[in-house]
Amino acid sequence: MADFRDLRIAIIGSGMGGLGTALAFAKKGFKHIDVYETASNLGFVGAGIQLPPNVARVLDRWGCWEEILAEATNVKGTSIRQGSTDVQLAYVSMPDMEEKYGYPHCTGHRSSLAGGLYNGCKKESAITFHFSTALVGIDSFTAKPTITLKPRDGDEYKVEADVVLAADGIKSVTRTQMLGLLGLEEEEEDTGQAAYRIMLKRSEMADDPEMLALLDSDTVVRWIGERRHIIAYAVSNHGIYNLSTAHPDSNFAGATNATYTTKGSKAAMLDVYSTFCPLVHRMLNLVPDGEVCEWKLRVHKALPTWVHGSVALVGDACHPTLPHLSQGAAMAIEDGAVLAECVSRIPAGKLSDPEAISKALEVYELLRKPYTSKLVDLASFSGRTLHLGEGKAKEERDRQFSENGKTGSVPDKWASPDVQKMIYSHDCVKEAVDRFDELFCKR
Ligand SMILES: Cc1cc2nc3c(=O)[nH]c(=O)nc-3n(C[C@H](O)[C@H](O)[C@H](O)COP(=O)(O)OP(=O)(O)OC[C@H]3O[C@@H](n4cnc5c(N)ncnc54)[C@H](O)[C@@H]3O)c2cc1C
Repeated sequence: MADFRDLRIAIIGSGMGGLGTALAFAKKGFKHIDVYETASNLGFVGAGIQLPPNVARVLDRWGCWEEILAEATNVKGTSIRQGSTDVQLAYVSMPDMEEKYGYPHCTGHRSSLAGGLYNGCKKESAITFHFSTALVGIDSFTAKPTITLKPRDGDEYKVEADVVLAADGIKSVTRTQMLGLLGLEEEEEDTGQAAYRIMLKRSEMADDPEMLALLDSDTVVRWIGERRHIIAYAVSNHGIYNLSTAHPDSNFAGATNATYTTKGSKAAMLDVYSTFCPLVHRMLNLVPDGEVCEWKLRVHKALPTWVHGSVALVGDACHPTLPHLSQGAAMAIEDGAVLAECVSRIPAGKLSDPEAISKALEVYELLRKPYTSKLVDLASFSGRTLHLGEGKAKEERDRQFSENGKTGSVPDKWASPDVQKMIYSHDCVKEAVDRFDELFCKR
């Protein structure tokens, strides 16, 4: 094979990681990209998502940022409040994200991010989506990997590819198979945390001036309390107020491996936040009975490897994270951008050599693993700090909050200027371009 563009790329999953990976490869000129997805369509949950400058930079290069930005909220600050009283512990101003990092920090609707990526993919004739088609397993990881797929209403069939990229999420069957084959343990870590995701429409909030003020503002609000918090912001051109919570996982504790999304009970949700202020209660009360959705927040220990042969893991399949740094989807999308850069840089004479493909995938892992591990750790740290109960540690945390980020750091790492600088100025593609040759030669 003389041209990298002829490599056949099979992508498992069309979540943020799968969509981003497909688009990244198409934009690099790859001509054969197939995406296999169990679900019958994109089917994204109704929830908000933060769109930080580091992911906006990648999306803009692919030509899909403008469409997403059109209905996003440009965030100008974050207010961290005591959940029980609504009293502000810190206000961290972030008016100059665009000047500092080239892009604003935004919040948006998940469907608008997924839709922007999908619309970008649909313009690329190289990408073929196979919905209602599940990966059953990987038959061979090395040389030209083959995979077995099962359409919902059809018989299993096999596909041969040159590279398989598994963006099949936290419950990745590829990860389980890969680690099993290598004789390695897959260690799930019980976070002890679960989340409710809530979206309130303007019409539902219309009679409450305090709620409307939240919906109309450009501020992300975090209400914090012992072992629980709520983060909230406006999405969809200030038409929807999105709330995402984190609290002890009492509904899932007995079934950590069985399920991770369930219909929750409204009474249980109100009880979890019973110590929070009346404003929070009024918002939670707007959720219709029977429409409470609860997620188990899942992670696993850092994996010994993300790559075997010509197969690599992407996104939550290899670096699931608690959501407290709001970088999970961003990291998955960046993975795709870095993978496309690495695979396209395999020296022309080596494209038919499976070892060269494997080495390029290992370079991707070398570039991404230390960085994503740092962010996963920061998200866990933030969770522990935000959820402190009464005592000296909390007093010190609140003292640090009272400095409002003027020292360059706040205990909520998402809002912390030093952490924002590290993440938002990170250009994953530039790093791949700068370091690929050196890392490829060392493998
Ligand atoms: C409460 C909460 C709030 C969050 N907030 C944010 C935020 O503000 N910002 C942010 O960046 N991130 C956030 N995240 C994290 C983010 O949602 C995830 O990290 C991200 O969506 C992971 O994308 P992914 O493509 O790796 O996996 P997924 O989105 O899980 O996609 C995996 C896809 O693979 C498919 N699949 C699975 N198995 C198979 C198979 N065998 N065959 C074919 N297809 C298969 C699935 O159907 C799915 O479509 C949040 C997460 C939670 C839980």
